[in-house]
Amino acid sequence: MQLMSAISLSPLSSQPPVILVADDDKSVRRLLRRIMEREGYGVVEVCDGQQCLDAYETVKPDIVLLDAMMPVMDGFTCCKQLLQVARNNLLSALTNFNTDSALGNTVIAKLWERTPILMITNLDDEDSVNRAFDVGATDYVTKPIQLTVLRLRLRQLLKQAQVYKQLEAANQALQQLATVDSLTDLANRRRFDDYLHTQWINSAQEESPLSLILCDIDFFKFYNDQYGHPAGDICLQKVGHALKRHAQKNQDLVARYGGEEFAVIMPNTHIAGAVHVAQMIQAGVRDLRITHQGSAINQYVTLSLGVATMVPTWDSSPSDLIVKADQALYQAKAAGRDRIVSD
Ligand SMILES: [Mg+2]
Repeated sequence: MQLMSAISLSPLSSQPPVILVADDDKSVRRLLRRIMEREGYGVVEVCDGQQCLDAYETVKPDIVLLDAMMPVMDGFTCCKQLLQVARNNLLSALTNFNTDSALGNTVIAKLWERTPILMITNLDDEDSVNRAFDVGATDYVTKPIQLTVLRLRLRQLLKQAQVYKQLEAANQALQQLATVDSLTDLANRRRFDDYLHTQWINSAQEESPLSLILCDIDFFKFYNDQYGHPAGDICLQKVGHALKRHAQKNQDLVARYGGEEFAVIMPNTHIAGAVHVAQMIQAGVRDLRITHQGSAINQYVTLSLGVATMVPTWDSSPSDLIVKADQALYQAKAAGRDRIVSD
């Protein structure tokens, strides 16, 4: 149920579609503006391909209408470059994409198709039509422009673009669901695993220390027994929030590791720095003063924390770091809880 509501598509912006028109012929631009404004579209005019490229990123048009023959930079070159811009955007989107889901890749692969380019060619110029498709134009209209044809093509392209945008929004919602713990809003276990893996490789390359804090709410089972699960959930949210406030800095990642267990991955951090952050977390949770009558050691909610640091090597693995932090956490519990043990 939650999944369905999270990916239900919010209505797209009610702003009118914007068409970026590039044509060196002023009378054509004037004609196009009149037609498109009558359709309720916003219009931005430029005179050549270079201006079109310059305007593209700021205007963020829904459609580009591109005259084939223009001075300075013709429509074919411009079309090619626009697609290059889109490809670069796609590449950086992929770089930042954290999950390996086939769904994500499929949808992202569609992204750069979403700003359609409509090329304007001369009626008797078949060669131009071929070239237009060669350089990646979505479709073409011929000069002299037939108004009905143009109107219909624009409508159809806009409808397609809207579908792409909805897919993109759905993809973002799914990615969010795939990496975020819905109760605490922290990174979930999956994201934790991905991030630890990535940072492990980075740190091995840079030969830099990677620290991990694992922590656990003391006597949390008794908390749930005494106050009920809804109160337990609120407690988890508050503790998670405190962790985020005290530990989420630079490249650090705070995650919900399991039921009442949390983790902080800290790249480029020596053990002393990690212990310091653990102290901040411990104090931050104490300061919440969440009453906990079921606790055998304190009237408020407390944490036990295990801290470990390794300089990753190619013959060790992220699970070695987890084991070390887990052992430290176990010792913290065995020694009476509400304390920090570092490896
Ligand atoms: Mg021209």
